[in-house]
Amino acid sequence: MKAISVLGSTGSIGTQTLEIVEEFPDQFRVVALTAGRNLTLLLEQIQKHQPEVVALADEELVNELRDRLNELPLERRPNKLPKILGGTDGLNEAASWDHADLVVTGIVGCAGLLPTLAAIRSGKDIALANKETLIAAGPVVLPELKRSGSRLLPADSEHSAIFQCLQGTPWAENARLSTGVPNPGLRSIHLTASGGAFRDWSTEDLKNATVTDATNHPNWSMGRKITVDSATLMNKGLEVIEAHYLFGLDYDQIEIVIHPQSIIHSMIELADSSVLAQLGWPDMKLPILYCMSWPSRLETPWKRLSLKEVGQLTFNSPDTEKYPCMQLAYSVGRVGGTMPAVLNAANEEAVAQFLEEKIHFLEIPKLIEATCENHKKDLKSQPNLEEVLFVDSWARNAVREKVDSGLNRVVFLGS
Ligand code: NAD
Ligand code: MG
Repeated sequence: MKAISVLGSTGSIGTQTLEIVEEFPDQFRVVALTAGRNLTLLLEQIQKHQPEVVALADEELVNELRDRLNELPLERRPNKLPKILGGTDGLNEAASWDHADLVVTGIVGCAGLLPTLAAIRSGKDIALANKETLIAAGPVVLPELKRSGSRLLPADSEHSAIFQCLQGTPWAENARLSTGVPNPGLRSIHLTASGGAFRDWSTEDLKNATVTDATNHPNWSMGRKITVDSATLMNKGLEVIEAHYLFGLDYDQIEIVIHPQSIIHSMIELADSSVLAQLGWPDMKLPILYCMSWPSRLETPWKRLSLKEVGQLTFNSPDTEKYPCMQLAYSVGRVGGTMPAVLNAANEEAVAQFLEEKIHFLEIPKLIEATCENHKKDLKSQPNLEEVLFVDSWARNAVREKVDSGLNRVVFLGS
């Protein structure tokens, strides 16, 4: 039986991971859970899964959780109370918990970086959903993987599709899990994108986009931050950088194709010009399960794909004028070093400001671009962890200051 730790257990990825554990009680058990602030859901999860350790990002909630567990009627209390930890050290301890075989990283944003690194350093296999970690700190994460022998299994649906397609190729034996190592027979990859919440909107209409509009994804049900990233298509830009680090590809080998039905989850093109694709309904459970069962596949009762039901699969080129975040991510990725960490942090902060209705949707890319531009003079090409963390917090402050001073509005209105 595989022992699983779930970081960010109360989020979209976290809850879906726990549903899988419930569906396969003979295959998986939960040993560690971590969460941000949702104590009510966490409490339910503790009762159901009886983990050995639980960590809360907010240290101040530790006592409250302890009290609420102790107040449960005896019959609803776990047989053995878990160790309860808090703060960064607590998250790191839970992420590197000795009894775990696989750590699912469902924390959103760069907040996942330190716990993910802790899991990697302790040699755990990682089901990577928290893409921001790799984007911000690729140059730090890749050598750590090599040192510890930890294996990075992609849970993002596109990267899972590529990973699944790679399994059947002859040179996969050596290259399929050597993260960051170029694969000799892999010519290019095609990342599919649904087009996000605004795919049928004109650029003119985007001027009236609200938070409700941007957090309403046509195909996928996900956390708020990634749903806004899908609406700006920054999610696809981030996935380009994620693919660069995961599969050791140059940026000109990574293409984006708009595929509104989200049935083909991505494709690989091989040396002989053959193209392989992975298909399925838009449901994150499959890529998460594949990380958990890899290299095996488990029989599921899930709804089978029917292409007759789907009817049509269509494809078109992304509109780079309407969605500047994609090109921004390509150029930032090519610069490398600390620049992707700045792009990621500026994006996280700009999205947070948008969700608080302090800025307009169209201001998101402008704030990110201006912050990346300002970082050029301070770029570090081979950053260490401290340098990544430093630029991450610098970029967040830079965006906040710009919004607070109202300067971004001048930029936006002037364009
Ligand atoms: P979410 O907002 O639904 O959940 C985030 C989880 O992280 C919650 O448990 C929350 O409590 C926790 N968290 C938030 N801030 C934290 C902090 N500062 N410290 C520790 N924990 C914190 O997000 P999600 O949609 O599940 O996404 C999680 C990650 O997976 C993201 O990196 C996202 O890009 C990636 N991802 C998600 C999906 C999806 O379908 N949801 C698909 C692909 C990739
Ligand atoms: Mg994805």
